[in-house]
Amino acid sequence: MRQKLAAGNWKMNGTADALSELNELTQGYPEASVDILICPPATLIDRASEAAAGSAVAIGGQDCHANVTGAHTGDISAEMLRDAGANYVIIGHSERRDDHGETSELIAAKATAAYNAGLIAVVCCGEHLSTREDGKTLEHIGTQIAESLPDTANADTTVIAYEPVWAIGTGLTPTLEQIAEVHDFIRAELVKRFGEKIGNGIRLLYGGSVKPANAAEIFATSNVDGALVGGASLKAADFSAIIDALV
Ligand code: PGA
Repeated sequence: MRQKLAAGNWKMNGTADALSELNELTQGYPEASVDILICPPATLIDRASEAAAGSAVAIGGQDCHANVTGAHTGDISAEMLRDAGANYVIIGHSERRDDHGETSELIAAKATAAYNAGLIAVVCCGEHLSTREDGKTLEHIGTQIAESLPDTANADTTVIAYEPVWAIGTGLTPTLEQIAEVHDFIRAELVKRFGEKIGNGIRLLYGGSVKPANAAEIFATSNVDGALVGGASLKAADFSAIIDALV
C-alpha cells in the first residue's frame, strides 16, 4: 500500500502573512492518515518548519542545486533546505525546466543531491500541449522519467509528479482516461527499471489545476496516489478540501 500524499506548491507566492494559512492548515491536521506537504518559497522554509512542528504537515523546498556548497550565487543546496527544516524538495518542475532551461540530466543530479541530504525528491514530468497533439505524450514522459531519475531512486526517497504543462494554472485538466493512461504507463516503466518492489512503491502524484471540485475523481483514478497542487494550495480552506478528498 502506497501512503497517499497531498502536496502544495506555493511557487513564488507568500510573505510572512501567508503563514496564517499554514497555521490554519496545521491546526486542522495535528495528525492525518495521509501525508501532507507544503512547499513555500525558500524565504519562508524555516518559519514554516517551526509553524508546522508537531502537526501532520511536512515542509519542502521547490528546487535545490546539484552541489553541496560552492560559488553559485542565488542557489540553495539540499543540505540548506534540510537545515532549514525541509523534508522534501520538488525537482524538475516544468517552470524550472522552461524558465531556467533545466535538463532531465541536471534534474537527476539534483535528485541525487536531495537523497544525499536526506530529503525526499518530488520529481516532475509532463508534456507541452504540442507534444500531446502530436501523439507523443507517452514517449516524452518515458524519456523524461528515464533521464530524470537516478539509478538509486527508491520508494522511500522518490515521488513522481505527472503535470501536463498545459494543465498548470489554466483550469484545464486531462480526462480521467488520459491521466490513467499516463500514470499506468509510468508505473509500468518504473517496475521495468526498478523491479516490482521499488517500482510499485514509488508514489505517483497528478498535478495541474487540481481543485476541491475535481480532486475526488482524480484521486479515484488508476495509479494516482495524490496530487501536487499549485493555486489551490495557497488557501488553507481549498487545500484542506483536497486533503479530505484524498483521505
Ligand atoms: P496548479 O499548479 O495547481 O496551479 O495548476 C500545479 C503545479 O504547477 O504544481
